[in-house]
Amino acid sequence: MTDVQIKEKYAELALKTGVNLQKGQALMINAPIEGADFTRLVAKKAWQLGAKDVHINWVDDELTLLKYEYAPEEVIADYPEWKVKLHDTFAEDGGAVLNIRSTNPDLLKDIDPTRVAKANKAAAQALVNFRKYTMNDKITWSIISIPTADWAQKIFPDKSKKDAMESLWEAIIKIVRVDQEDPIKAWDKHNATLEKAREVLNKKNYHKLVFKAPGTNLEMELPKGHIWKGGSAVSEKGITFNPNMPTEEVFSMPHKYGVNGTVSSTKPLNYGGSLIDNFSLTFKDGQVVDFKAEQGEEVLKHLLDSDEGSRRLGEVALVPHESPVSQSGLIFYNTLFDENASCHIALGKAYPTNLEGGSKMNAEELDKHGVNDSLNHVDFMIGSEKLDIEGIKADGTTEAVFRNGTWALDVK
Ligand code: ZN
Ligand code: ZN
Repeated sequence: MTDVQIKEKYAELALKTGVNLQKGQALMINAPIEGADFTRLVAKKAWQLGAKDVHINWVDDELTLLKYEYAPEEVIADYPEWKVKLHDTFAEDGGAVLNIRSTNPDLLKDIDPTRVAKANKAAAQALVNFRKYTMNDKITWSIISIPTADWAQKIFPDKSKKDAMESLWEAIIKIVRVDQEDPIKAWDKHNATLEKAREVLNKKNYHKLVFKAPGTNLEMELPKGHIWKGGSAVSEKGITFNPNMPTEEVFSMPHKYGVNGTVSSTKPLNYGGSLIDNFSLTFKDGQVVDFKAEQGEEVLKHLLDSDEGSRRLGEVALVPHESPVSQSGLIFYNTLFDENASCHIALGKAYPTNLEGGSKMNAEELDKHGVNDSLNHVDFMIGSEKLDIEGIKADGTTEAVFRNGTWALDVK
């Protein structure tokens, strides 16, 4: 296959298996300007599939950086109303959203973390309504990535930009199964595997999970009525879609008041262009009461202090160490990939869809059931070949869920 043919296959996969674009539906794409060629391919395919409209929001790392360097404080701390309206009206109209995420992990390394925290918070607050559409699966949405030069070179520091880009394309294409004869079929099969794993966990209905690894000893209660999800999701209108490509996880929610102990990160976290690395968090009754980081401690502090819910957990995800992302042996500095190489947990908002009846509950009810709320949802990686997980049932029975970083339960 030629380069263009491979990219066409990827574009088609993102539209059909990712957002599952329907005839007459509008598509919004958030795309890196460096990836204009690929984005145009996606747009063309979307039109061919009968899209009502295709709207692109271009993301340009260099312009983002310039804004952080020069914009006055009040501009940094403001997310304009017209942008909010763009997102809200688009979601109300039932459009699909495709995010192509490829930010340079070192983009904001010289920017004052306070400014970054302010901008992130403003955006999160402004888009609170829009986020309900995605986090409750009211619309179909998907996150994918394509290589950009600075990001590729961060992963392959010894290669030229051109070679690094090629290597990263190669890695991504393999991980998202576009190298296979029929990627769409390959994804159907993959989704069926994840469905099996989540069914096993739903049947087990564990009361608690205990995570043990070097630097980690964490006891995590799961709320009554928690649901394990994974692979494809189904929108309110009954359309099956894949929120993340790749995805290798089955995930649920911790009880927001039921997490105790310490957990250590196993991969660097790229938090919107700032890296946090080798960090640990200590929890008491669900809340982070202590933390440290070898790199990016100040950024981590801002993240934890952004609101009450940012100190509590909103997701727990199990990923076997032999996942294809993990097998690539690469550290991507991009959560979409790194979280699918490793068990992870998320600080901040939980997906209400991970609780029976959750997407119909109001804030008070969600809190009572142990569902965390926050402006943030930030995943970070805690898995490795040294991770063991125990599952404890309500009657106290304990069994091995993970041993040495992979399934001890029979999930196949
Ligand atoms: Zn996850
Ligand atoms: Zn997450």
